[in-house]
Amino acid sequence: MNIKIPEYAMRALRVLESAGFSAYFVGGCVRDSLLGTLPADWDIATNALPEQVKTAFRGYTVVDTGLKHGTVTVVSDYHNLEITTYRIDGDYSDARRPDSVIFTTDLHEDLKRRDFTVNAMAYHPEQGLVDDWGGKRDLKDKVLRCVGDPEQRFKEDALRILRALRFGAVLGFTIEPKTEAALRQKRALLMNISGERIREELVKLLCGKNVQQILLTYRSILGEVLPEIRPAFDFDQKNPHHYLTVWEHTVQAIAGSIPSIRVRLALLFHDLGKPASFSVDEKGIGHFYGHPELSEQAAREIMHRLRFDNATIDRVTALVRYHDYDVVPQSKSVKRWLNRLGEEGFRELLAVKAADRSATTHKYENLSVIQLTENILDEVIAQKQCFTREQLNINGSDLMDLGIPQGKEIGRILDELLSLVIDEKLPNQPALLKKRAAALWRG
Ligand code: ATP
Ligand code: MG
Repeated sequence: MNIKIPEYAMRALRVLESAGFSAYFVGGCVRDSLLGTLPADWDIATNALPEQVKTAFRGYTVVDTGLKHGTVTVVSDYHNLEITTYRIDGDYSDARRPDSVIFTTDLHEDLKRRDFTVNAMAYHPEQGLVDDWGGKRDLKDKVLRCVGDPEQRFKEDALRILRALRFGAVLGFTIEPKTEAALRQKRALLMNISGERIREELVKLLCGKNVQQILLTYRSILGEVLPEIRPAFDFDQKNPHHYLTVWEHTVQAIAGSIPSIRVRLALLFHDLGKPASFSVDEKGIGHFYGHPELSEQAAREIMHRLRFDNATIDRVTALVRYHDYDVVPQSKSVKRWLNRLGEEGFRELLAVKAADRSATTHKYENLSVIQLTENILDEVIAQKQCFTREQLNINGSDLMDLGIPQGKEIGRILDELLSLVIDEKLPNQPALLKKRAAALWRG
């Protein structure tokens, strides 16, 4: 068996070896190579201590990523490589992080501390594969299995529970029965895990190809970190547009969407407000008036808790807020949306709406409206039609030249001109814009 290793990663391995140390590629890169997919990064494990790693890489850019845990990042040919000293994790007292780590010179000890058999393999171009835990067989069988005793492993670090779901979703593997039983049993320990760590796994899980099955089968596990989703489970919508419960609809919409993290997060949250806004009319039909606002509120709270960055929070909450608004395949309406959300944001909104509709009884008719809208969007962009102040063929100093005093008035007039241009009531031409500006000011 031969794994193709990129030049920059190979060079780093040889640097360690030339300095007299042993070094192996480990974890995700070995797993992905054996699966025939391109590894995202090439992690190296070595018997060199962090300080020795730093000395060996004199002349390279070296970052102390997690010195305490033995990790040093080396920049080789513009690529980041994480180099970690073989280690044994000390006692765990908080289901989170080892109280201490002990460095070791034994690769086998290092493999033993890793989470799943498929993540616990090491590879060296001359020494070959080191597979103490049957990772290769589990890869072939598409099985996710803990290294060692699953209950113990989840007790040590409860994040592994979520990682199991993440790898289940990304790799499309089934979770081995003992591992599955243990993760269900230990799920309450997820409460101890920080928002950041949960976020990282959740984001990857949502974009996994097997997300549908994982979100349906392990919804109660996810409910430990996102209690807001629980009311959606089994919630019958009593509405002819919906043949699925709120949670089933949510999951189907996620699975049917493009694997964009913002789109998928928005879909995860878009109907969270439904159970609390539910009402039934005299005909027995269910309605959810005002649910987008409640969903938006939940989305914001969850994303703050999971320490998402502000740009992601702003975008995703906007997508949730607008998910039920109508879009009309008309250039005026498209430009209004573009003004509000920008091109990327509006494309994401259309993706959210398409996925939302495709998980209802009315999928086809509504999808064609979205398709037509997308065509118009492409046209508006290609023709560089105006939908922002910056694209207006007039600006603040032009207005001042007309004698309009600096200040609020300028902004108001520019906004009015932009509205007229977006609504196609006024061409975006300097002379006409100036004339109208003068009229708006006096009038
Ligand atoms: P990806 O390709 O998504 O980065 P990965 O397998 O590299 O997948 P990482 O989260 O980057 O996953 O972790 C690197 C390796 O470190 C894993 O393959 C695993 O061997 C080990 N590992 C990471 N987190 C844990 C953990 N919480 N408990 C035990 N081992 C872990
Ligand atoms: Mg990795």
